[in-house]
Amino acid sequence: MENEKTLITDFDLDLICDYFGRLDRQGPGNPESTIRALSFIDNFSDELKIADFACGTGGQTMILAQNTKGTITGLDISPYFIEKFNTNAEKLGLQNRVKGIVCSMDNLPFQNEEFNVIWSEGAIANIGFEKGLNYWKGFLKKDGYIAVTYESWFTDERPTEIEKFWVDAVPEIGTIGHNISIMQKAGYSLVAAFVLPERCWIDTYFTPQKTIQKTFLEKNAGNKAAEDFVKYMKYEEELYLKYKQYYGYVFYIGKKM
Ligand code: SAM
Repeated sequence: MENEKTLITDFDLDLICDYFGRLDRQGPGNPESTIRALSFIDNFSDELKIADFACGTGGQTMILAQNTKGTITGLDISPYFIEKFNTNAEKLGLQNRVKGIVCSMDNLPFQNEEFNVIWSEGAIANIGFEKGLNYWKGFLKKDGYIAVTYESWFTDERPTEIEKFWVDAVPEIGTIGHNISIMQKAGYSLVAAFVLPERCWIDTYFTPQKTIQKTFLEKNAGNKAAEDFVKYMKYEEELYLKYKQYYGYVFYIGKKM
């Protein structure tokens, strides 16, 4: 990847949405992990209000809706993803409880203490782990829960190649212990933290990409940015297979004090 784009955010958003809109999930994760994280949350009621920040097309949101009562607001910066999200909710007959809106996670249109649960898979790095935990806390009721997945180091040291890739992508990336301490300092008590299993990367993230890469490249034939984007995504997989013992996503579940 010498002299080529080295961050996903270097690519055009429309291109990223065209690619990831073809997939059920836009980041590592799977239904079992979403349900496992949900199992740490008590006091389910019909009035439960959940927000899913950076919901994408709603893979995890629909699982949340099928396993809870109450309402869910999904939000994402991409209108294209939100359109697909609302279509998916309708297909599953969830449209009365699940609604997607377009907005940015760092400028939220909600009331103070509006939600019982704030969810966010694979996206808090866009605002920053510490900043997101602090800002989002204002929208949680007292004793409300936050559940986020976040890129994390599994070891204190790692090879330069993988260190550089992730520090460029997520400058704040830290170890699990460091991230738990940030969560506690932000005013949450730790409820649970667990590493997403490898199948969340391989079965639901990298493998489905292989099948859509061909049609994506056919549709964008001759588009160098599209070719570079596919190369970038293949490089991400290559790095994961080589260095997966050093990093991954961790689910952090906290309760607002
Ligand atoms: N949560 C989904 C999942 O796990 O499948 C999507 C995760 S994807 C890795 C990251 C998502 O963050 C994308 O849907 C992207 O559009 C969204 N996003 C990026 N920056 C954002 C922002 N500032 N506000 C809201 N959404 C944002």
